Amino acid sequence: MSEFEHAPLRPSWLCVVDGKPWPCDLALARMAGEDRYSRAIFMSMMLDQAAQDMPTATPAELFERFVAPTRATPIPIGGGGR
Ligand SMILES: [Zn+2]
Repeated sequence: MSEFEHAPLRPSWLCVVDGKPWPCDLALARMAGEDRYSRAIFMSMMLDQAAQDMPTATPAELFERFVAPTRATPIPIGGGGR
C-alpha cells in the first residue's frame, strides 16, 4: 500500500489531502480496491496508532471510525464481476 496519498495526518487524524476526518471517503474508496485481508490488517494498525494519539476516544468510537467502514465496503465475490 504505497503511494497512498489520502493519508492521515497525525496526531489530528485528518486527511492530508482534504482535511476530513480520516479515513475520508476517498481513502475508503481507494482501499476498496485492496485485498480485504490487507485492508483489515492495515486498518487495525491505523486503529492502534489512533488509539495512542486519541486517548479520549472510546474503543467503540475507534471501531466505528476505522473498522466498520471497511466492513461496509462491498466486497466483490468471484472473479467475473468486471
Ligand atoms: Zn482524503
